[in-house]
Amino acid sequence: MTPKSTSIKMSTWIKNQAYRYTGKLLLRHEIPLNDKTLNYLIKEKIFESTPSFKNKIIIKQCLRCGNTKHSLLGEIPCLNCQRTHLYCRKCIEMGRVMECERLYRWIGKAPSWKVHDNPCTWEGELTKPQQQASSRIVESINKEGEELLVWAVCGAGKTEMLFQGITTALKQGKRICLATPRADVVRELKPRFQQAFANVSVQALYGGSQDKDATAQLILATTHQLLRFKEAFDVMIIDEIDAFPYHADPSLPFATSRAKNPVCTTIYLTATPRKKQQSLITRKKLPHIFFPIRYHGHPLPVPQMKMSLSLKKDFQNNQPPTPFITWVNKRQNSHRQLLIFVPSISLAEQITKSIRRILLEEKIIEKNSAIDFVHAEDQYREEKVKQFRNKELKVIITTTILERGVTFPSVDVVILDAGHDVFDQAALVQIAGRAGRSADDPTGEVVFFHDGKTEAMIQAISAIKKMNLRGGVGG
Ligand SMILES: [Zn+2]
Repeated sequence: MTPKSTSIKMSTWIKNQAYRYTGKLLLRHEIPLNDKTLNYLIKEKIFESTPSFKNKIIIKQCLRCGNTKHSLLGEIPCLNCQRTHLYCRKCIEMGRVMECERLYRWIGKAPSWKVHDNPCTWEGELTKPQQQASSRIVESINKEGEELLVWAVCGAGKTEMLFQGITTALKQGKRICLATPRADVVRELKPRFQQAFANVSVQALYGGSQDKDATAQLILATTHQLLRFKEAFDVMIIDEIDAFPYHADPSLPFATSRAKNPVCTTIYLTATPRKKQQSLITRKKLPHIFFPIRYHGHPLPVPQMKMSLSLKKDFQNNQPPTPFITWVNKRQNSHRQLLIFVPSISLAEQITKSIRRILLEEKIIEKNSAIDFVHAEDQYREEKVKQFRNKELKVIITTTILERGVTFPSVDVVILDAGHDVFDQAALVQIAGRAGRSADDPTGEVVFFHDGKTEAMIQAISAIKKMNLRGGVGG
């Protein structure tokens, strides 16, 4: 081979590698290249390696997730170098990083992402208000470095409102990430995005996902997965900005901001902004659009509250509260599925049996297998949610994992022990927002069973009524 052809071959190889590595922050074992090649690329300033920890007397920090909490930084003897090293417990679920390891990043020429002529294959139509919101999103994407908060009720059709914006970005050869706190939501969005952008590479990243290499132009990811990126995206869409764990975990805003290019447009989506975001809006520090109406134009279902004084005692006996039994009896002929939220995994496990028995006795379900429970640690979680979606399950008992982002067309929604701490105002609004999602069945009942009203319940109901009034659909 002539030197010229070797060098062409080399530059093609580097170009291909650029797609694979650009915008990522990786550990050595995440780079399947041998030491010789990697060292060569470092020498040629195509890769750079940086420390994974800052270890000074005054500050110790994990440079992968930004954690500075000493309680989350451990020290263990390192088998490789026979010394004691720092490691970070905060981001350990992404694989443990030891102080002697380095972080690697591609600093060679970045690849040009494909400029698409007409990437959107979605054939649906936006309503007039959705169209207005969509145009505003497009406007933001056309401006570099712009931030926009989209405050839209549950069921507004946020995903569809993003399609034009994403189309605009793809036509400009931009790389896009939509990050959301929950893996269930990523799983639900993947087929919708793949269908809407049939000829664009779309990948879904979450713990245990198939799409491991993260080389797509359009990435859907859990917020945790963003820890693997640095200066990767031109458009960052952050869904459920108010949600746990984004809301409570400082490493996620850290990772999100690092994953953005300096001129990245950021779109925040929320149905229930936290005080901090509301205050930014009021002080006009954060441009926003407010979208108080569901895509089908019907109001948000307003939750009913049902008092049950013996609720805790019933739970101790593994029984659902009596008012729930009375309520469920009345919906014998209901065609709707039933989504039952409970505050803990143990309660979900304990109470399913008696609810199953009651529903069988009352002929609300016909067979044992029509009801199941699901929670975050359930190994069949994905499968069960799918069964509920396919209506193989008529009733599902769940912890807050299904509080957001998931859409089932025709459900009634119940919370058992709505006064429990896990159900804060945002959670209650989100849960209520699971009902009445479809234009074919836009109402749906929402019932909070409780043994004492909480501020969160009162505020949630008031917020829902206010949204309905602002959307012009409230009574
Ligand atoms: Zn860390």
